[in-house]
Amino acid sequence: MAEFSLELNEDQLQIQKWVHEFAADVIRPAAPEWDEREEFPYPVVEQAAEIGLYGWEFMAEGMSGDPTGLTLPVAIEELFWGDAGIGMAIMGSGLAAAGIVASGTPEQVIEWIPQCYGTPDKIGLGAFAASEPDAGSDVAGYRTRAVYDEATDEWVLNGTKAWITNGGIADVHVVVAVVDPELGSKGHASFVVPPGTKGLSMGQKYKKHGIRASHTAEVVLDDVRVPGRCLLGGKEKLDERLARVRRGEKGNAQAAMQTFEATRPAVGAQALGVARAAYEYALDYAKEREAFGRKIIMNQSIAFMLADMATEIDATRMLIWRAAWLGKNGQFKNAEGSMAKMKAGRVATWVTERAIQILGGYGYVREYPVERWHRDAKIHDIFEGTEQIQQLVISRAISGLRIE
Ligand SMILES: Cc1cc2nc3c(=O)[nH]c(=O)nc-3n(C[C@H](O)[C@H](O)[C@H](O)COP(=O)(O)OP(=O)(O)OC[C@H]3O[C@@H](n4cnc5c(N)ncnc54)[C@H](O)[C@@H]3O)c2cc1C
Repeated sequence: MAEFSLELNEDQLQIQKWVHEFAADVIRPAAPEWDEREEFPYPVVEQAAEIGLYGWEFMAEGMSGDPTGLTLPVAIEELFWGDAGIGMAIMGSGLAAAGIVASGTPEQVIEWIPQCYGTPDKIGLGAFAASEPDAGSDVAGYRTRAVYDEATDEWVLNGTKAWITNGGIADVHVVVAVVDPELGSKGHASFVVPPGTKGLSMGQKYKKHGIRASHTAEVVLDDVRVPGRCLLGGKEKLDERLARVRRGEKGNAQAAMQTFEATRPAVGAQALGVARAAYEYALDYAKEREAFGRKIIMNQSIAFMLADMATEIDATRMLIWRAAWLGKNGQFKNAEGSMAKMKAGRVATWVTERAIQILGGYGYVREYPVERWHRDAKIHDIFEGTEQIQQLVISRAISGLRIE
């Protein structure tokens, strides 16, 4: 078990510097263009792959090679400090990888995760498709069906997935589908849809408020046939689990909850990077801009806003690091991963709004980056569990009651 420490080790400091330099030199200058184009920034992600920042080895090292849990949030904060849309384009395949790690066998992990990233010469993309047009937070409402065809040992998938990062442009899609509709959310299973599988297509591509360099689209599954080995975890394990649920035995809800709690600090770190970018920009601006014959920071109302922003950002980082460390080294007690994610989304939305206020009119136009950062921040209150869903998880954890 690693000691909890606020001091980063030598490796972490190096990674932090390495990602920061890429964010400052490559991502930031490219950000306005890809935000306007609303397209996946292939050239930037290819550059990230060339230096090893986009690739399964980096994710594997960040996820499993670090006993403190802090390396990944530290790297992600720097990446999203550069730009959240491009940051998400780089991180999006990680959602598929996490889905494969969560449910797959070691053989499936080895087979599919490298395909989610490809190689620096030819990058690949992964997508994790759970949400549906009529069911986002309410996972028991998923309708996408997976039916087993015993004659061919294939699963047949039908349905529509909504809001999917890299949806339809990914090489590997991980799809959550209903295998037993009578069991609600306990009757789901995850499937890998391999590259080039017939019947999978992109539906509408969404025009978004923020993170516009990240591709988000519907995924339509029309009689998609995947081999039996694409069921993550395998059929035997699925049949055993379904039988346990049908007998009314308790499943491994606790284990699933721990998995979600462990991935939430990374999402919090994304929001933290956006918040820090806006705070730093507003601080510099307030020290330069003059009104009424003095720098605007010399007014307490501006300086106190910046003081509050700095405090909220540091408090958020403490929550994220604690949750990331707990994810690796201890048991969560009070949904600390959800606390970190919820706080980070709120702080990013608030800090970026305050940054606009400090810049005045210049904060409101596209020539300056803070309006983009404000648009980008908001997604962190919504995806990977909305603010209200985090509140639900935390209130259940602290009370031990089934709050609805
Ligand atoms: C840019 C973007 C990228 C995304 N990427 C992915 C992806 O890669 N893969 C994927 O599977 N999904 C993805 N999503 C989907 C995302 O996770 C969902 O949008 C999110 O879970 C919310 O679901 P919903 O939009 O259906 O909202 P709803 O669940 O309909 O919620 C609407 C409102 O009701 C509130 N609410 C719902 N239930 C309760 C309750 N019980 N108590 C209190 N309040 C409640 C919510 O908090 C929210 O404010 C993405 C979404 C976006 C916008």
